Amino acid sequence: MTEKKDKTIHLVRGMKDILPADQPWWDFVRSRGRDLAKSYGYDRIDTPMLEQTNLFIRSVGKGTDIVEKEMFSFIDQGNENVTLRPEATAGIVRAYIEHGLVNQPKPVKLFWLGPLFRHDRPQAGRYRQFWQLDYEALGDDHPAVDAELIMIAYGLLKELGLSPTVQINSIGDEDDRERYKKALVEYFRPRRNQLSEEVKKRLQKNPLRVLDSKEEAVRILVQDAPQIVDYLSETANKHFVKVLEHLDELEIPYVLNPRLVRGLDYYNRTVFELWSQDDEGGQLAFGGGGRYDSLVEQLGGQPTPAAGFAIGFERLIMKMREANVPLPPAHTPNIFVAQLGEASRKKCLKLFEELRRAGVYAAHALSKDGIKQQMEAANRLKVKYTLIFGQKEMLDNTILLRDMDNGIQETIPFEKVVPEVKKRLERSALKENHSSTSPEV
Ligand code: AMP
Repeated sequence: MTEKKDKTIHLVRGMKDILPADQPWWDFVRSRGRDLAKSYGYDRIDTPMLEQTNLFIRSVGKGTDIVEKEMFSFIDQGNENVTLRPEATAGIVRAYIEHGLVNQPKPVKLFWLGPLFRHDRPQAGRYRQFWQLDYEALGDDHPAVDAELIMIAYGLLKELGLSPTVQINSIGDEDDRERYKKALVEYFRPRRNQLSEEVKKRLQKNPLRVLDSKEEAVRILVQDAPQIVDYLSETANKHFVKVLEHLDELEIPYVLNPRLVRGLDYYNRTVFELWSQDDEGGQLAFGGGGRYDSLVEQLGGQPTPAAGFAIGFERLIMKMREANVPLPPAHTPNIFVAQLGEASRKKCLKLFEELRRAGVYAAHALSKDGIKQQMEAANRLKVKYTLIFGQKEMLDNTILLRDMDNGIQETIPFEKVVPEVKKRLERSALKENHSSTSPEV
C-alpha cells in the first residue's frame, strides 16, 4: 500500500453517503411518508440511536440473527452495555411505556423515521447503516388496524411509483406457534440428513426461521411441510380472516404466503411483507410488519395489543431509480443577481438577502467579476429573470431586469426591485398553473 493510500480515510464498510444528487430521492420518500402519516393521523416520534442492549434482547429475541450476530453493541464509559438501534419498534415501545403515552386515546398512532444499524454482510440494497420509515398503532387489536397498516404501506409504495405485492400470513398466538413448532421439528426429523448444519441449528433454536431459509434444498422440503394456518386457534383464525376481508374490500391484492414468518421474535398473528413484483423470493423486500400484541407487556408496560410496519429507504430508492420514477419538480432559483464591480457587489449581496427574506428564491455568483460568466451561470440555473446591477445603474439608482426567455431588458428603480420581482414571479406562476391544469386539446 502506498503512503498516500494509508493516509486516506475511507467510508466504513457497509456505510453509505447520501450525496446532494441523491437527496431529491430521499426528500421525495421522506415527504410522501410524512404526508401519509399526517393524513392517517400518525404523530411523529423520534427515539435515540443508542439504547440499552437489553431492550433488543428482550424484544427482538435472543435466538434471532439480529441479536445473535448483527448488533453494534459496546460498553460505554459509564460501564453500560448499549447498542446502536437495529430496528425501530423496540425503542418506540420503550418510549411509549416510559412517557405514559398509554393514557392517550387508542390506538396511539406513531410515525418514525431514521437510521438503523445492523452488522450484516453488505451487498446490493443491504447496508450496515440504513434508513426506515415506521408506522406503529398501539392499543387496538382490531383486524381493521392491521388492514389500515397494510393499506398505508401499499399506498405509500404505489405513490412512489412502485408495484409491490403484499405477502401475508398469520403466525397465530404463542400456543399455536408452540404446537406448530413441534410439528415442524417432527416433519424435519426424518429429513435431517438433507439439512445443512446452519439449518439444523435454526431448527433447534428458532424452528420458524427454517421456513424462510434461502437454501434451495430446504425450500423444496418446506413446500410439503405443515403450514401454520392449520395450527391457528379459532380466535387467531377469525382475526386473520377479518384482516383478509378488509383487504378484499379495499381491493388490495395479496398473496397468502405460508412461509412468511419474519425474523423477529415479538410478532404474533398477522405478519406481512411488501415485495417488488420482480422479486419472487422477497430477497429485497421493501419492508414488512405485523402484529406484536405481547411486546408492550414484555417490556414492562400494561398489556397492549399493537401492530406496525417498516419500509426501508435504500431498496425503495434503488427500485425507484431502476424504474425511472419521475421525481416532483425540483425547487430551483428563479432569479439571478448579477453585479459589475466592487461597490455593486456589496449592494447585490444585500439585495440577494432582501429577496430571500421576501420569499424569492434567488441565486448569485458574487465571487465572479465578468458579466459573461454570470450570465452563463444564470442560464445553467434556468432562472426566469436576471437582475443586472452595473456602474450606470448604480449612478442612476436603477437596476436592469432581463427576461431570460426573450432577452428583453427593462430598467426599474432600485427601491422597487423586490416588489416588482415578486409581482412578476407570482404572475408567471399563475400562468403556469393555469396552463398545466388546462384540459388537453
Ligand atoms: P426488517 O426490519 O428486517 O423487517 O426490515 C424491513 C425493511 O428494512 C426491509 O424490507 C428493507 O427494506 C430494510 N432493511 C432491513 N435491513 C436492511 C439493510 N441491512 N440494509 C438496507 N435495508 C434494510
